[in-house]
Amino acid sequence: MKKEVNEIPRRSFIKLSGAVASLAAGSMVSQTAQAADAPKNHMIGAGVAADLPKAKGPRLVVVGGGASGLTIAKYAKKEYPKFDVVMVEKRDMYSSCFLSNLLYSNVINLEFLADHSFLDAAKNNKYTFFNATCIGLDRSARKLYTDQGEIAYDFLVIAPGISYDYSRIGVKDAETETALRTQYPAGFTMPTEHISIRKKVHEFESGTFVLNVPGGNYRCLPAPYERACMIASYFKKNKIKAKVLLLDHNPEITIKAKGFHAAFNELYKDYIIYKPSIEIKGVDLEKRLIKTDFDSFGFDDAAIYPGIRASRLIEQLGLVDPKSLQKEALIDTLKYNVIGDERVYVTGDSRPHPYSKSANTSNTEGKYVAKVLAARAQGKDIDWYSPETICFSLVNADPLEGISVDATYAYDAKTKAFSFSKDTKMFEDRDQVKGRGTLSWAEALHRDLFA
Ligand SMILES: Cc1cc2nc3c(=O)[nH]c(=O)nc-3n(C[C@H](O)[C@H](O)[C@H](O)COP(=O)(O)OP(=O)(O)OC[C@H]3O[C@@H](n4cnc5c(N)ncnc54)[C@H](O)[C@@H]3O)c2cc1C
Repeated sequence: MKKEVNEIPRRSFIKLSGAVASLAAGSMVSQTAQAADAPKNHMIGAGVAADLPKAKGPRLVVVGGGASGLTIAKYAKKEYPKFDVVMVEKRDMYSSCFLSNLLYSNVINLEFLADHSFLDAAKNNKYTFFNATCIGLDRSARKLYTDQGEIAYDFLVIAPGISYDYSRIGVKDAETETALRTQYPAGFTMPTEHISIRKKVHEFESGTFVLNVPGGNYRCLPAPYERACMIASYFKKNKIKAKVLLLDHNPEITIKAKGFHAAFNELYKDYIIYKPSIEIKGVDLEKRLIKTDFDSFGFDDAAIYPGIRASRLIEQLGLVDPKSLQKEALIDTLKYNVIGDERVYVTGDSRPHPYSKSANTSNTEGKYVAKVLAARAQGKDIDWYSPETICFSLVNADPLEGISVDATYAYDAKTKAFSFSKDTKMFEDRDQVKGRGTLSWAEALHRDLFA
């Protein structure tokens, strides 16, 4: 193990808001029978061990039970059974983001996304599920702080996904941002957003439904285009006099362009209006207008996708690369450890790589990171290999028709840059085999994460 260096502050707590801090202080007071010197602003969870059995081997703590964390918890234990693996996840119920677009066209129901138990995943794969929120980290003491107490670790993986960045669509005040999050949710993180959007679509009577594609390396490149197809498919089937207006920040569809253009033109000519190179500079909520430097676009309802950044947790734990536009983690891009600290790793959609931010990428990357952890726990190392992005998109709900891409990545050691490898293949002629393949791909991934 290399000597650790102090490049990043080693003790980072999430700053508590005044209200939460006084709540924490209040609960301390009652627990300590009004000790005269009861601490103010006591950090929840610090100084109290989490209620977990004693570690029976090197303890690997994984924060985040998404595609990345679930894969690493399972496969690290398989690779190195001596690991005592604990997953820290703040949600008490799982629901997939991937395939959530299919809710809007009634191809799937919520059960398809949510009928998977964190407890079963832990039981089947011999690790511990710990339902808690990570709130701080002390890398010198190797302690993770959660709202349910602190956990000592030998190795730590942080896989918390993404946060939205509304400043990327010109929204800089908290009032407008909160109104947008509530009234026009993006639908790229929480299941509660997916449910709101499904209601909007199913209750839409007529007019313009706006969707947008942000700039940067946003979560799941094809998803906004697939969403346009699924909503248009619902409008078409139910003969609703409505149009999906898709405003794309980019000059062209970012992936599987031929397949999506064909679907827009051949299946949804009267339902989808596609406008490239539209850089959103603000939203007028009162007038329901999307503003750019040159135009404004009216809407009757919308699901507005701001840009994204790595999960705020990465910044709060002091792991962010100060040069990263999307506030991603400063890690060794081949081994995933925080620079100078081979005990702490950042994976999944908070990674800095230009990979597609997708579940399949997180899953295949997770299997590689599990091998890195197992090797390092035994004083060894392994060579880098690329994750794989197999991504199906449904373009027609009736009959089910899909398109897909199978990508891997190449690494240039001289420039330290990643790009799509020569083996990357697009399958852009829509058909029913890929339509059914979309569902069976997701079923297989769910099995891999939970069984
Ligand atoms: C509409 C849509 C369509 C998509 N389509 C596809 C697709 O077709 N194919 C595909 O491969 N991918 C698709 N994706 C992308 C895929 O869902 C994500 O890329 C993938 O989920 C990323 O995995 P992750 O583990 O990095 O993050 P997540 O799955 O977001 O998991 C992060 C986890 O960390 C937890 N967490 C966060 N902070 C804390 C904390 N402080 N303490 C404890 N836990 C915490 C969260 O609760 C969450 O469970 C789609 C996404 C969307 C939204």
